[in-house]
Amino acid sequence: MGEAIRGSCVCGTVAFRIEGPLRGFQYCHCSRCRKKTGSSNAANIFVPVGQFSWERGEAKVKRFELPTAKYWSTAFCTDCGSAMPWLTKNGKAMVVGAGGLDDDPGLRPTYSVFFGSRAPWYVHVSDLEMHETLPQS
Ligand SMILES: [Zn+2]
Ligand SMILES: [Zn+2]
Repeated sequence: MGEAIRGSCVCGTVAFRIEGPLRGFQYCHCSRCRKKTGSSNAANIFVPVGQFSWERGEAKVKRFELPTAKYWSTAFCTDCGSAMPWLTKNGKAMVVGAGGLDDDPGLRPTYSVFFGSRAPWYVHVSDLEMHETLPQS
């Protein structure tokens, strides 16, 4: 067991922690993940349930099940709408959106799934002009 990695929602109502060692970090470009995140892809870390715990606000986490989805689900803070970890349907793992983490998980994404479903406007980050903060206009 490594040091705990903490995560929380934007408003701070919900907080959770995960324990290492972690493995399985992927970007998902499927249309559901794009809609849920409002972004080009989800960044998901798979955490065995025994390595995950809610620190506060679990009652404020609402799960959404899509009847037609075999694996996919989502959860969010009912106060601020931040994406929150959700339990896989087989009950074995929590899918944790890396964007919700407050600490560096150490692990880095190693692959993308549903890249064939990527948004038409998606471009590789390496092709973008980079600014450390908001550029001066
Ligand atoms: Zn919140
Ligand atoms: Zn997806």
